Amino acid sequence: MMAKARKLVRNGRVERLDGERFNVIGDHGTYNVVRTPDGGFSCTCPGFRDKGTCSHSTAVSIVLGKTRR
Ligand SMILES: [Zn+2]
Repeated sequence: MMAKARKLVRNGRVERLDGERFNVIGDHGTYNVVRTPDGGFSCTCPGFRDKGTCSHSTAVSIVLGKTRR
């Protein structure tokens, strides 16, 4: 999961739309990741619905961690 997320970041697959919303271009389509009020992330992909986490939301958290520094 983490390796896949890092690859998305490295390949420039994460697009920031505004402060809270991101497009992540995954292997199977483009998904919307949004930041939730509790500081977590929500993604529109099926994997997130099943597991509550996914490489897309993880990729966004990596990007945010980088931009904060
Ligand atoms: Zn996802």
